[in-house]
Amino acid sequence: MAIVRDGFPASEGIVSGPVHILHWGVPEVPHETITPDRIEEEEEKFNAAREWAKGRIREVRHTTAERLGTMEARIFEPQLAMLDDAEVVDGTIRYIRENRLTAARAFDWRMLELQALWIRTRNPMVLDRLNDVEDLQVRVLHYLLDRPEPGDLDSLDEPVIVVARSVSPSLTAQMDPDRTLGVATDMGTRTSHWAILARSMQIPAVVGLLDISQVAWEGQEAILDGRIGRVVLDPNDRDREVYRARKVRLEEWEKELELVSKADTVTNDGQPVALRANVDLPSEVVRARDQGAEGIGLFRTEFLVVGRSSMPEEEEQYQAYRQAAEAFPDGAVVIRTYDLGGDKFPMFLQMAREENPFLGWRAIRVCLDRLDLFRPQLRAFLRATVHGDVRIMLPLVNDVEEILRVRELLGEEEENLKREGIPYYSGYKVGILLETPAAALDAAELARHCDFFSIGTNDLVQYTLAVDRTNPRLAHLYNPFHPAVVRQLHQVARVGRAAGIEVSVCGEMAANPLGAYLLLGLDIWSLSVAWPAVSEVRKVIREFRVEDARNAARKALAAPTGRDVVQCLVEGVGSSVDLSIFSGRWSLSLP
Ligand code: PEP
Ligand code: MG
Repeated sequence: MAIVRDGFPASEGIVSGPVHILHWGVPEVPHETITPDRIEEEEEKFNAAREWAKGRIREVRHTTAERLGTMEARIFEPQLAMLDDAEVVDGTIRYIRENRLTAARAFDWRMLELQALWIRTRNPMVLDRLNDVEDLQVRVLHYLLDRPEPGDLDSLDEPVIVVARSVSPSLTAQMDPDRTLGVATDMGTRTSHWAILARSMQIPAVVGLLDISQVAWEGQEAILDGRIGRVVLDPNDRDREVYRARKVRLEEWEKELELVSKADTVTNDGQPVALRANVDLPSEVVRARDQGAEGIGLFRTEFLVVGRSSMPEEEEQYQAYRQAAEAFPDGAVVIRTYDLGGDKFPMFLQMAREENPFLGWRAIRVCLDRLDLFRPQLRAFLRATVHGDVRIMLPLVNDVEEILRVRELLGEEEENLKREGIPYYSGYKVGILLETPAAALDAAELARHCDFFSIGTNDLVQYTLAVDRTNPRLAHLYNPFHPAVVRQLHQVARVGRAAGIEVSVCGEMAANPLGAYLLLGLDIWSLSVAWPAVSEVRKVIREFRVEDARNAARKALAAPTGRDVVQCLVEGVGSSVDLSIFSGRWSLSLP
């Protein structure tokens, strides 16, 4: 019987093929001691292993730079630094010399010791790096034990669906898209670093499948649907038929999208909609433009920070923002200031462990406390304003004072730039990302101090419903169509309109046809969606009629449950869009 697992969709695409279980684990190292005359030999072996591992990581860095960009490739720097770290190197050599251990055993011990030490600190910044540490251990130990490097797909006869407990960014960057049909993992979220890379490399992926690596076996047939986040192991004839038909339908859909690739984003009855893209990496800006996005509605800047061992420099950021602005000479580029904390912990920030990181030192709170990090970002943003309609957006704002403080800082940085003779455009816009019920309820007050609202429904849903967005066990409760969410969207849209500022939505909800329909029905005319979804959202918008959407939204606002909300929207959309293409996402179910 087929085994079906639902996780989070992390990267689009439906594929089928044999499973390849990736055992990316630290190998068992035999306990062996050496005679004194072999000490030098083992030291040399250890140094050779380090050099080899550095070489491999440099190769991965190089491939990443070629495929994605030099900035993206910098996430491998901490790993390189770790291979020269005195704690790692001296500690291992000491074990070889003083305890007469083989290089493999000495290194294994030292790493276990360091990991235990780091885990004891329970510092999330370190815990976040354990994945990288493990990656290094695996590489170095396989070399020392003279075993083939795991994760090497070149030796396989055919392309595979990689199944693993978890994968590292370096492993992902190493995957050849021609040999890797897709990736399915027990752990991870859509925003895991490797998932972002998979998306950018256009390798279909599903994460948060809990036990897929335990229930799947080598060579087993599998279907992976990265569009809805489902993996089917040992599919039966009916499953094969469902997915074959779905794939055919999606290919037709792709062709339909091409037909409107140059068309305006305008509803069937003539209402223009500003459709922008969300990007996670600078290299995605060009892809967003190729998809016909009108601008960048959410430029996530965390990539500049997470996975780095040092603070990103102003110049590097300025170049990234400037390139985005130049890619969209006629469109807005909305730079979101660092949204750190929650599930993103850069090494250098030394963030202490918190019981509830999503309710903790996060986003704008971090920036306002760490001006050494925030000021260079503000300067980079200001400098980029001369290259286009570059706007700044503050995440997780709850309070007017937060906006006032940022405006004050911007003013100070403007003065500094003036003094230094560096140009900027003073008419830039400052907006906020509305992500909490507090901000939605206080929207009228907040609107007086900012130039635009963007509603971050991913977090708004999480905070409204008290459902952790990264917890796969709660995925069925994470409902963007819950009446409490719908009412807040309505309230914020009304307030924004009354204040005369743009209201847009940049959460995933905007990329769902029912979500887009509801938002248009609430008179929200600006949407920003993940870059791969731009052309299909344009296509569905072109099928919608605003009057119908308004009627459906009116009914949805009076609906007693999330299920009823969805029902109102499904009825409203009617046959204008083939919802089966999106089945499985949120409340739409697959046959
Ligand atoms: C959101 O919360 O909806 C959002 C767009 O931000 P992120 O997904 O990066 O938290
Ligand atoms: Mg958010």
